[in-house]
Amino acid sequence: MPELIAPGTVWLVGAGPGDPDLLTRKAEKLISAADIIFYDALVGSGVLDLIPDHVERVSVGKRSGRHSKDQGTICGLIVEAALLGKRVVRLKGGDPSIFGRTTEELDACAGKGIPVHICPGVTAASAAAASAGLSLTLRGAARKLSFITAHARAGEPLDIDWNALADPEATLAIYMGKGAAHDISAHLIKAGLSPKTPAMIVENASLPNERIVHTRLDLLSIAVGAKVTDGPALLLIGAAVGRPRPDGAENIVSAKKVDLLIS
Ligand code: SAH
Repeated sequence: MPELIAPGTVWLVGAGPGDPDLLTRKAEKLISAADIIFYDALVGSGVLDLIPDHVERVSVGKRSGRHSKDQGTICGLIVEAALLGKRVVRLKGGDPSIFGRTTEELDACAGKGIPVHICPGVTAASAAAASAGLSLTLRGAARKLSFITAHARAGEPLDIDWNALADPEATLAIYMGKGAAHDISAHLIKAGLSPKTPAMIVENASLPNERIVHTRLDLLSIAVGAKVTDGPALLLIGAAVGRPRPDGAENIVSAKKVDLLIS
């Protein structure tokens, strides 16, 4: 059988949302077969625990506003390790193909003739929906699912076509949107979505400190401010997220409760 990772090749591997049980079997095998692993801040500690002791591990941790290494440096490190003949795994939170700067890393490898492959992972939106016990699509009510990032460069406004997004038959899964929650709800309401559109915030999806907050579009930023800490959080907006959780266990921010909180 050929080796899972040939020396001098790179695998961009989806680490999923945090829970190591949500890792694919292939990702787990790749982690064991690597000589060196470069990983993001969002890779769960339970996933990092699966890295064998002999494997070199390098944190290239990036969290919004706290970049420890810039993208060019990360690309350079991966390329350098592969050119030394190492089996390189680049562990990325969630799925590498979603808001993961994967193209830069593919291009950096291709530019040096380094073979590079991708192993998919469970993206945050899937994990958030699963935790909340709901479906992101809903027959007849949510026929479209949009993955959006609301991360703007510092000091720059969000450059998003709000009219295209304000579709009552769509579910919006917004990554990196916590800081922009106020702008997101204001723009979507202005573009025609009902202020009462169901919305949900899922912080630390799949992890023991997960938090799920059900709210409405017009209360989204208040709910973020009142209920969310500093973990990664996904915003979900649309009719599909308005269905109550079967066990009723969620943390609901209703208009009444928010009135109390802000009075
Ligand atoms: N490639 C990743 C997304 C990277 S962008 C994926 O497919 O999931 C980083 C953003 O993803 C975070 O700011 C947050 O919005 C979201 N995210 C990642 N992990 C998360 C988690 N466990 N819970 C909630 N949101 C998460």
